[in-house]
Amino acid sequence: MTIGVLAVQGAFAEHIKRLKELGIDSVELRKKDDLGKPFDGIILPGGESTVQGKLLKELDMFDTLKNMIKNEVPVLATCAGLILLAEKLENDSHTYFGTLPVTVKRNAYGRQLGSFFTEEDFKGIGKIPMTFIRAPYIESSSDDVDILAKENNHTIAVRYKNQLAMSFHPELDNDTRIHEYFVDMIKGC
Ligand code: GLN
Repeated sequence: MTIGVLAVQGAFAEHIKRLKELGIDSVELRKKDDLGKPFDGIILPGGESTVQGKLLKELDMFDTLKNMIKNEVPVLATCAGLILLAEKLENDSHTYFGTLPVTVKRNAYGRQLGSFFTEEDFKGIGKIPMTFIRAPYIESSSDDVDILAKENNHTIAVRYKNQLAMSFHPELDNDTRIHEYFVDMIKGC
């Protein structure tokens, strides 16, 4: 199995490190040609969604990636990645791929509480460490979206068909269970 990790901006190296710990190969998706290489799933890392969205358009990767996600290639999206997938942003007029039927609030925890660590239950896994960095959360979701985790009553992780998305950064904690969950999801797709 090989996983394509979007590597135009943000915390992609940390995802690659976690995959390596699980013995999973990865390929960095830096330019359009990379999207033609064989891979079984895609990781959209955290970072800055406006910058990522702009770079994806400039590098002419946007439409190809969007089609792959629509065609049910499994995706793990973290933080800015969740923003890229969201059908609607509550506090931003932009939308990007729009493949995930949720409304997301960017920088939802405000400046004061921009970054924090907690441990919460994740459906099907149990308690896991969660690092939030200027994180978004999910304000609402359509009925067929499976809610996988909440923090302080806010939805922070969901699954919809081939898309697994979360507000926090599983790649930054020393725990590979979210990546294992994604690998199992790929095997089941
Ligand atoms: N605040 C960032 C954004 O709006 C997301 C933060 C992150 O990915 N850690 O894109």
